[in-house]
Amino acid sequence: MCGIVGYIGKRQAYPILIKGLKRLEYRGYDSAGIALITEQSGLQVYKTKGKVADLEKHAEGKDISGTIGIAHTRWATHGEPTSTNAHPHVSSTGRLAIIHNGIIENYAVLKDQLKEKGIEFHSDTDTEVLVQLIDYIRTKKELDLLTSVRIALHQVIGAYAMAIIDKDNPDQIIAARQSSPLVVGIGDGEFFLGSDASPIIEYTNKVVYLDDQDIAVIDRNKENVEFVNIHNETIEHEIKKINLNLSQIEKGGYPHFMLKEIFEQPESLKDCMRGRVNVDLNNVVLSAVIDYRKELINARRFIIVACGTSWHAGLIGKQLLENFCQIPVEVEYASEFRYSNPVINNQDVVIAISQSGETADTLAAVELAKKKGAFIFGICNAIGSSIPRATQTGCYIHVGPEIGVASTKAFTGQVTVLTMLSLAIAKARGTIDIREYEELVKGLNDIPEKQKELLNSCNEKIHEISKIFTYARNFLYLGRGYNYPVALEGALKLKEISYIHAEGYPAAEMKHGPIALIDEEMPVVIIATKNALYDKLMSNIQEIKARKGRVIALVSEDDEKVKALADEYIELPKTLECLEPLLATIPLQLLAYYIAICKGKNVDQPRNLAKSVTVE
Ligand code: GLU
Repeated sequence: MCGIVGYIGKRQAYPILIKGLKRLEYRGYDSAGIALITEQSGLQVYKTKGKVADLEKHAEGKDISGTIGIAHTRWATHGEPTSTNAHPHVSSTGRLAIIHNGIIENYAVLKDQLKEKGIEFHSDTDTEVLVQLIDYIRTKKELDLLTSVRIALHQVIGAYAMAIIDKDNPDQIIAARQSSPLVVGIGDGEFFLGSDASPIIEYTNKVVYLDDQDIAVIDRNKENVEFVNIHNETIEHEIKKINLNLSQIEKGGYPHFMLKEIFEQPESLKDCMRGRVNVDLNNVVLSAVIDYRKELINARRFIIVACGTSWHAGLIGKQLLENFCQIPVEVEYASEFRYSNPVINNQDVVIAISQSGETADTLAAVELAKKKGAFIFGICNAIGSSIPRATQTGCYIHVGPEIGVASTKAFTGQVTVLTMLSLAIAKARGTIDIREYEELVKGLNDIPEKQKELLNSCNEKIHEISKIFTYARNFLYLGRGYNYPVALEGALKLKEISYIHAEGYPAAEMKHGPIALIDEEMPVVIIATKNALYDKLMSNIQEIKARKGRVIALVSEDDEKVKALADEYIELPKTLECLEPLLATIPLQLLAYYIAICKGKNVDQPRNLAKSVTVE
């Protein structure tokens, strides 16, 4: 997920573009870059690894004049977050510069074809393929830029919001969209581009949101932007007036990053599964399992090391890997593991899970396991961070930058990767029945739609429920099987942002202690879906009710019994049992969020916590 900005008009482009990038920096901050067409020096491209502030330093003292430009802040998907891989990318002829948000899925095939034709590549990105292809078509057939873009886009599979400029035509920007967001701002004799409206609203409230397959031809000498589709048919777009203040729009209209990230989960999981889960072919493909097949399928044992929310994802991973791959799994707190002199050998595979890829304890655990000869597999979100660099292989979760300190979409991304990993290894080992495998592939693929349905159906209800329970000083969260770690995660979310003490337990453990806490004041959240342990969970609910506890139950949509017993209930769409955490987690995130809001807490920056725990 990157941020893109563009400007063409009568003012100096550089300050507008830099300000725009800063507003979009939440979308990625691996590298930043800018391309300007200046009167004196022609096309100038400045780019650097790091944040927008680093780009400003890098551009100091250079020619930053010009009234046309495009700029980018990157969240790397293809190629390390280096200065070379930073956008804009320039074609080999030096004529065209492009910025892009998305993934060109067939970039490898296109790259090979272009290389055969003698085109030289300078970066590892999928994006460079796009600009080289457009320029190849332009030069070979002597076509104008719009036609070249159109032809190229017919050959491209994937997602893009992109903007392209031609050094020989400082009067035009061409922009196009497929699956990634793009907004054009229409000012008085000037035009703006943005991944969202935040870089634009300071200058104009008139915008057009591009639809898929739209191409915008932005010409400084025309009053309006022309829109065509990739078949060259003219598109009429209504100009919308937006009424948003800046602080709102940076969070995509949500009051907090946490809420935005909770609602992003259907999209972020689609990104996480893109190119990996294929329902048409009925399979899951992870390049790490292809490249390191021997190490992974012959593992004697998996040891998952992680902290906090990632550790909860690891507990779900243990059940998945053991069930489907029939390989024993241990889940360790990285902070304990690193000081525990663990018995490890070269047949062990250590799976390190960390959103930021910088968690100090997890990194130390990785180093220790490496020294002892284990094979290390990383599951991280931040591309090019320390843990992916320290591991032999791994799998990025690709859920986009997570800014809210309480992790939400990264958790479901981690669980999704662990599910894909278990399926891929199980298939390679032959430990899963093929029909069950195919059902799981389909079930996993359906999860984003079900999450969407769930978010729509439960959001308001949970907001209402949360108002009832703000009085509570303690909460108990219960679940069994795959949903036991979900209970732990629900309790952690509540602690983190509302500062209410909460405990997660396996439901059957309640009678061994926590039941003593239950009275009419005590809310108990129980995940009681219709699975193998449903009857047992029913008994737990009876036990809570007998002691006047207040039950908030997560139930299957066709359930009647638990609904009748519970004080409050939230319905979950039906899915396979091992995929339930990907749904059941969402209402618990929302419950924690709304309770914290009702209590007036700062949910995005809870006290004492930091996003990336780079200290021990
Ligand atoms: N795929 C492009 C890159 O890695 C764009 C990244 C994105 O939009 O997330 O540079």
